[in-house]
Amino acid sequence: VHIQIINTGRELMLGWRLNTHAQWLCQQLFQHGYIVSRQIAVDDSGPSIQDAIREALGRADLIITTGGLGPTSDDRTRDLVADLLGRALRQDPAVLAHITAYFATRKRTCPAGVHVQAQVPEGARVLLNAHGTAPGLAMEIPAPTGHTRPACLVMLPGPPRELQPMFRNQVLPLIQAQFPLSTPLASQILRSTGLGESMVEEAIGPLLQSLAQEGLEVGYCARPGEVDIQLLARGASAEKTVAAAEQIVRGRLGHLIFGTNDELLEEVVVRLLTARRQTLALAESCTGGCLAHRLTNVPGASQVFLGGLVTYHNSLKENFLGVRAETLRHHGAASESAALEMAAGLRSRTGADYAISVTGIAGPSGGSAEKPVGTVFVGLATAQGVQARQQLNPFDRETFKHVTSQQALEWLRQTILQPAQMS
Ligand code: ATP
Ligand code: MG
Repeated sequence: VHIQIINTGRELMLGWRLNTHAQWLCQQLFQHGYIVSRQIAVDDSGPSIQDAIREALGRADLIITTGGLGPTSDDRTRDLVADLLGRALRQDPAVLAHITAYFATRKRTCPAGVHVQAQVPEGARVLLNAHGTAPGLAMEIPAPTGHTRPACLVMLPGPPRELQPMFRNQVLPLIQAQFPLSTPLASQILRSTGLGESMVEEAIGPLLQSLAQEGLEVGYCARPGEVDIQLLARGASAEKTVAAAEQIVRGRLGHLIFGTNDELLEEVVVRLLTARRQTLALAESCTGGCLAHRLTNVPGASQVFLGGLVTYHNSLKENFLGVRAETLRHHGAASESAALEMAAGLRSRTGADYAISVTGIAGPSGGSAEKPVGTVFVGLATAQGVQARQQLNPFDRETFKHVTSQQALEWLRQTILQPAQMS
């Protein structure tokens, strides 16, 4: 299958926005056995989008565009495609009803402009948007003169939270029905944290050698604070090969594998706490609420997450958590002693089963020889007692927050699974 992705938007050309759709769509397609042949990004002006589609027609079996389906004057993909293909636009009553209901349930007045999103090119199938108003569109395009290949054109909205579920739930099944894979494919992503990618490869690479000779493809995808191990095989024994590889990886790194495929560490933690009917509270200093943010992104977090304090200034560490002034004076706020007292104070004040504290030096200033920028202390108080760990995360502030929160969540995950490890 020849697949082309066309990402549209002026913001991509001006460098205001990273083209993450290209990566995300390629990842999704590859996970399901499809390899994208070409990806391009273009300005959302008329000639660029039309040129890109015209060029793709005749070569591609499947063309996916992103962006420009919204209601504003710069959202022109729908009109430009209709114009290019000589298809009339007609108002789709189901889309109109969806848009009206979307605003009604949010108790917002429906601006007149949004109705243009109910305009559908002749012959296009509507992909309803569960998280917004602009529907996606899918249409069959006959082979242009001089070519033999008809193409399937899929247009997706720009916002990631609209595009992603629409692609997973509606577009993937459509692709799988239209372009069935000639050989079966099996894949599994195992998500690990706590080891860098070279260490991960060193640990499992040699053990997977013989399976690799039988066609197993192993990929490593490193992100701050985490490494994905991608296992993929094709052919009649694909499922068996991937299952055998998974067993080997889990045998070697099982304790560091927190989830599979799209699972997030915070989701796993919420699931584990929910199953055990246990609760969590947070006292964050340098992560500034990053942990609380991640946990509250998970549906159902309210069952287990009591709350979090962002105790940035010493006075709050003293008044809200009971950290002693003497501790702060002698050891500083970014210290093991402070992390221990924060976690212990938080647990006794909230009654949570687990209390996590974070305090450190995010930088770029404030470091010393003894405690360089990136030094952070995470405290964890449980029924068994309280402990603190020191880490060094010398990154920009945002990456620092993410990596630190990842370490704290992973420590919590390990502790929930094996509480006896706490002294
Ligand atoms: P809307 O109804 O929001 O206008 P749309 O379908 O018209 O949606 P765009 O206006 O092109 O889509 O983009 C909406 C937002 O989606 C952009 O502001 C940007 O934040 C995000 N976005 C668009 N394209 C990409 C991309 N290729 N990669 C990452 N984000 C993108
Ligand atoms: Mg738009």
